[in-house]
Amino acid sequence: MPINLVIQKPDNLNLILLTLLMLKTTKITAKNHLIIFLISYLYCDYWMFLLHIFLDQKKTQKSNLNVISDLSKIFEEHHQDPKTILTENHVTYIKILMLISLFPQLINNYFFQNHKLYRNVFLLLNYFNLYVSFLGILAAMNHYFCHAITHKNKLVKLNFQFKLFSFFQKMKLLPTNEHHRIHHTPPHQKNWNLLNGLNIFYTKMYFLSNKNYNLLSLLFYTTNPMLISWIFNISYLTLNLKKS
Ligand SMILES: [Zn+2]
Ligand SMILES: [Zn+2]
Repeated sequence: MPINLVIQKPDNLNLILLTLLMLKTTKITAKNHLIIFLISYLYCDYWMFLLHIFLDQKKTQKSNLNVISDLSKIFEEHHQDPKTILTENHVTYIKILMLISLFPQLINNYFFQNHKLYRNVFLLLNYFNLYVSFLGILAAMNHYFCHAITHKNKLVKLNFQFKLFSFFQKMKLLPTNEHHRIHHTPPHQKNWNLLNGLNIFYTKMYFLSNKNYNLLSLLFYTTNPMLISWIFNISYLTLNLKKS
């Protein structure tokens, strides 16, 4: 059956938040840019690996939290029928995650941009949020195009995005369709990563921990971008309220 590619793009509300955040962001040095980008990249690589491995677990499908069990079932369905991804805008899967992470950052930006701490710490956190969002969008788009490249001969027309991501994959800048295809081979115990990074190290840790589900669960709930952003922002707010 011929397949039409779907344009991959972030949700409109996410785009508005990202634009507002960019408008409030001022210049930092090139060195700081590089440091924050590297931290953001390492974090995003880690977080997307963790998100994937945790939601791939059968136990997660039985979670008491409906949103988590539903997400986990979507991951299982993706293993059963990977081609379905080609009929959707895959980037919208991270829209709630981005919305909840960006919102407190934006509020604090508008209220406290003249504070001294803003220039020292908060501005760097702004860039962290922007880079993590950008890399998350990139990873979700690349996942879509991994499957699109695998089913290239069934596609009606190759669009600009397809050509761009094929190029990124050819240059090995992003995980390739062949790399992701290994993940889709049962029992789905390899290549959980969605960016190029410390995949081998994380996989080793997972097997060394004896596939410890409690550890995965703990890391998933305590190191996710939503919680990190809220903790930083509430601490920041409290600090400023105390001062004034
Ligand atoms: Zn998977
Ligand atoms: Zn996939």
